[in-house]
Amino acid sequence: MNEKPYLSVVIPAYNEEENIPLLYEKLKRVLDELGKGYEVIFIDDGSEDKTFQILRNIAQKDGKIKVIRFRRNYGQTAAMYAGFEHARGEVIVTIDADLQNDPEDIPVLLTKIEEGYDIVSGWRKERKDPFLSRRLPSRVANWIISKVTGVKLHDYGCTLKAYRADIAKRYRLYGDMHRFLPALAKRFGAKVTEIPVRHHPRLYGKSKYGIGRTVRVILDIFLVKFLNEYITKPLYVFGGIGFLLLTAGVLIELYLTLLKLFTGADIGGRPLLILGVLLILTGVQLLSTGIIAELIIRTYYESRGEKPYVIEEKINLEE
Ligand code: UDP
Ligand code: MG
Repeated sequence: MNEKPYLSVVIPAYNEEENIPLLYEKLKRVLDELGKGYEVIFIDDGSEDKTFQILRNIAQKDGKIKVIRFRRNYGQTAAMYAGFEHARGEVIVTIDADLQNDPEDIPVLLTKIEEGYDIVSGWRKERKDPFLSRRLPSRVANWIISKVTGVKLHDYGCTLKAYRADIAKRYRLYGDMHRFLPALAKRFGAKVTEIPVRHHPRLYGKSKYGIGRTVRVILDIFLVKFLNEYITKPLYVFGGIGFLLLTAGVLIELYLTLLKLFTGADIGGRPLLILGVLLILTGVQLLSTGIIAELIIRTYYESRGEKPYVIEEKINLEE
């Protein structure tokens, strides 16, 4: 194996045959100028066009270009995850293969990393995508994500980002989660910033996404919130709600019982009776879900050898 590079550029590509050669040229020019060791990892996400053949040709001539080919189309997040796993650099930059991001922005991202940030996110200030189907939903989503997670970014969806490698590698990415890395990394106290980057309209090939992505993003927001704040204490979330419902249910039934005993009133047909039963049942359900979740979390941490905390530094302690 050759020397470890400073920078790994990770590029997911799905049916991008026209874009790859152009991207390679631009990227090479920018990266050579940096004067630091680098590697570029392309992930061919099961393309049906000539993307892989073109990448193979480039890689045969240029050893800095590395290619991973997926068996089938697994999606952008999986592609990036594979790229992170194989990256050997101290810093990882992700960029789209479709030339909508501009490789010339990479040096600025790296400057920010050197200033001490763990994640530098690109912000497509002047985004060249359709308004109704892309920019509007994206703006709403960014606002919600920023509010919910407390990590304020204008453009979570921008692929052009730089990460300190240990941060990028820390997460197992499922679903569409790659966009949430800055929010997830908050749990580890990561320092996140953003800088405006260029954005170009897509010249070749088609966008792989439509409006349907919005729903998935919304669902992911809940997941991120949960992962960040309650993953180590699910019993508090489920159990808390369960306990409240259970208490309310018990009080209702108690009241009805006393009513029956002391006044002999007819309680069989009262809606309150049913409500009480429902509350008790749901309450018990939620409590037990909380306990099960608690057990799962422990297995999760122990199987990964992970601790529920992250240490920044140690003094006078053995590594
Ligand atoms: N991509 C991928 N697998 C997929 C979908 C997309 O690797 O299943 C890649 C695609 O080739 C591009 C990047 O992810 O490099 C972003 O995709 P796209 O440009 O379609 O997204 P948009 O810019 O429209 O949000
Ligand atoms: Mg694109």
